[in-house]
Amino acid sequence: MTTLSIVNASLADGRVLDVVVEGEEVVALGPGAGSGIGDTVDAAGGLLLPAFIDTHVHLDKVLIRDQLVEHDGTLQGAIDSIHAAKRGYDVQDVRRRARALIESSVLTGTTRLRSHVDIDTIGGLVPLEGVLAAAADCASIAEVQVVAFPQEGILRDPGAADLMVAAMEHGATVVGGMPHWESDEEGQREHVRFCFELAARFDADIDMHVDETDDGSVRTLAMVVEETRRSGWSHRVTVGHVCALSAADDDYAERVIAGCARAGITVVSNPGTNLVLQGRGDRGLVRRGTTRVQELMAAGVPVAFGQDCVQDGFYPFGRGDLLEVALISAHAAHLTTVAEQHAVLAGVTSVPAKAWRLGPTYGIQVGARADLQLYAAATWPEALRLQDPPRQVWFRGRLVGQTTVSRRLVTP
Ligand SMILES: [Zn+2]
Repeated sequence: MTTLSIVNASLADGRVLDVVVEGEEVVALGPGAGSGIGDTVDAAGGLLLPAFIDTHVHLDKVLIRDQLVEHDGTLQGAIDSIHAAKRGYDVQDVRRRARALIESSVLTGTTRLRSHVDIDTIGGLVPLEGVLAAAADCASIAEVQVVAFPQEGILRDPGAADLMVAAMEHGATVVGGMPHWESDEEGQREHVRFCFELAARFDADIDMHVDETDDGSVRTLAMVVEETRRSGWSHRVTVGHVCALSAADDDYAERVIAGCARAGITVVSNPGTNLVLQGRGDRGLVRRGTTRVQELMAAGVPVAFGQDCVQDGFYPFGRGDLLEVALISAHAAHLTTVAEQHAVLAGVTSVPAKAWRLGPTYGIQVGARADLQLYAAATWPEALRLQDPPRQVWFRGRLVGQTTVSRRLVTP
């Protein structure tokens, strides 16, 4: 079994120590713990973090923007623009694009990705097959979880319900949803019920797109809270986007946030995408679609941040880099004090780890899986500000990524 010692590393909490890895696992840590043991990497005081977890990305749709027609920039426009491409999907194309994004995510410090994958009557199970193939291709550098995601609705897309079941039978392990996309409130309720029943049938966690709209009167978050309580699925439910909460009235927001806290629901905000999608019809004071991050955190609701989209119909930017996502999130949610910047770090590390229910197998501690990343910067605020990629990334104790940044000021 190979032994690796990363010496003189700074942790996010300020401690400086050595970390010893044997095989896939952290076996010791402390000042001087790694001296003379195995292969040695001198961190020179650089920041050592657990690898990031991108808990909200759409691998089937990444890097497809060049194949789409331009649209009005809204969520509806983005969904419509992708239909033609989705009809013509082939497994190898999805696989190639998904693989490229997993690889660039690994190089920027992410070794776990939760991918929503469209399950609908347009693309059938082709996106799922492509993403599963990419996940298998990349199994030696990253771990990919697949969410069955009914992008076109369930009631609105007759046939989608059967495809959702088939997706869960063929490799998806998390149940997705998009209840606000149904045409009326009864449809939304039925959509939510369907997702919880499917989760119970497969003993699966739930991760739904919830209220990704500027319409503050939409109430599917409350429906999810209620169904979580009724079904006993506490601590197994994640909700993504939740844009409408920022436009909703304060009384409702306070009630539903308290409900999320009681039900152990994790919220994933994806500010990059929603900053460009939402508020397209507004003039002047534009709604930017970022949910009530600070209020959720203050109420004890775990908040994660995800990449969501990369160069697709929804978002023309991105590269699977959660350091960039963290910086955008800090701006969008007014997270600027040192403590708040650490809350952003938690949103791409420990919060998603908890939603994945990884327990003590995640983090920098004895017994944890050695998914690690090392920066040249010594602190998290400096790494976040400077945006240099990690020098080295390890997955299961093995080096899987290395980046050298070289800059030289040339003076006369
Ligand atoms: Zn999404």
